[in-house]
Amino acid sequence: MKYVGAHVSAAGGVDQAVLRAHELEATAFALFTKNQRQWRAAPLATDVIDKFKRACEKYGYTSKQILPHDSYLINLGHPVQEALDKSREAFIDELQRCEQLGLSLLNFHPGSHLMQVSEERCLATIAESINIALDKTQGVTAVIENTAGQGSNLGFRFEHLAAIIDGVEDKSRVGVCIDTCHAFAGGYDLRTQADCEHTFKQLGDIVGFQYLRGMHLNDAKSAFNSRVDRHHSLGEGNIGKTVFSYIMADSRFDNIPLILETVNPDIWIDEIAWLKSQQNKADEAAA
Ligand SMILES: [Zn+2]
Ligand SMILES: [Zn+2]
Repeated sequence: MKYVGAHVSAAGGVDQAVLRAHELEATAFALFTKNQRQWRAAPLATDVIDKFKRACEKYGYTSKQILPHDSYLINLGHPVQEALDKSREAFIDELQRCEQLGLSLLNFHPGSHLMQVSEERCLATIAESINIALDKTQGVTAVIENTAGQGSNLGFRFEHLAAIIDGVEDKSRVGVCIDTCHAFAGGYDLRTQADCEHTFKQLGDIVGFQYLRGMHLNDAKSAFNSRVDRHHSLGEGNIGKTVFSYIMADSRFDNIPLILETVNPDIWIDEIAWLKSQQNKADEAAA
């Protein structure tokens, strides 16, 4: 099965996100379980949790189709202890919110060294942050997203993701999410079929597809290897549509959320329909 959707708004309550996904005819979705630009949020109310779970059941979304994203403020590799502690605390809170909602994945950006420590040191700090958080929670997998490598953000090389996984004790609860825009901006070409073969072979060799828990399907306004993170609608950016057809036709991307974070929510419904059509085309070709 291919699960396709978008990162929908949770304005009005997390249960509203489920409805928005359903209206897009999505078979997957992403959401923030709290305001992504604030440190603190009120705990989830019992009735909101119930409404969310009922909506998921009603519209046919199981936890493996839902990829919540954590707050942008969290830096699990922060070089300053006090700030690191604050991030770790917020990350544990995010995992607990997922637990409460019956969700099994939490997508996050690995962290930044802020030019104060080495990459290696920062990656080790991130792994330790994950260990601490997994120890305090149950049932939710920490899903590390590759980044475009803007500023001092780590995670733009597949080797960074592999190094973090290597430092995580419970390998059953760590995984990765690959954002196509971030990969392209980080130096992994995806423009042609041959580029896709090469880039995803590297992903398999360096990280391993057994750790792949989700994909973010975004075209790029930013240039190849620019280390600049600017998303675009599918086919309108510098990557083009080939990679998205490729992913929809490849069984290595089955049974994980494939999430649009493209810039125009008005056409998500069309983008989702187009992605589904690419899978059908591939199925017919194989039959
Ligand atoms: Zn992200
Ligand atoms: Zn992303």
